[in-house]
Amino acid sequence: VPKECRIDPELCIGCGICVAICPSRVLELRDNRAILLNTKFCIKCGKCVEECPAKAIIYGKKREG
Ligand code: SF4
Ligand code: SF4
Repeated sequence: VPKECRIDPELCIGCGICVAICPSRVLELRDNRAILLNTKFCIKCGKCVEECPAKAIIYGKKREG
């Protein structure tokens, strides 16, 4: 079961795709990096995870490898 979205600021290239596609509008670009504004409103649809070209968004624990 997915817990919450995490965005790795080192992988994010600031393209803004996730911000544009998030149906809950909980993502925002700040200083050219995507941030999750409010995890409460994330519906865990997985769109941001799928669409991120840098694979910077993951569910749950920090990305490995
Ligand atoms: S999983 Fe869906 S609702 Fe949650 S941040 Fe990503 S696009 Fe938005
Ligand atoms: S889609 Fe990925 S690379 Fe683009 S802004 Fe969102 S987290 Fe960053």
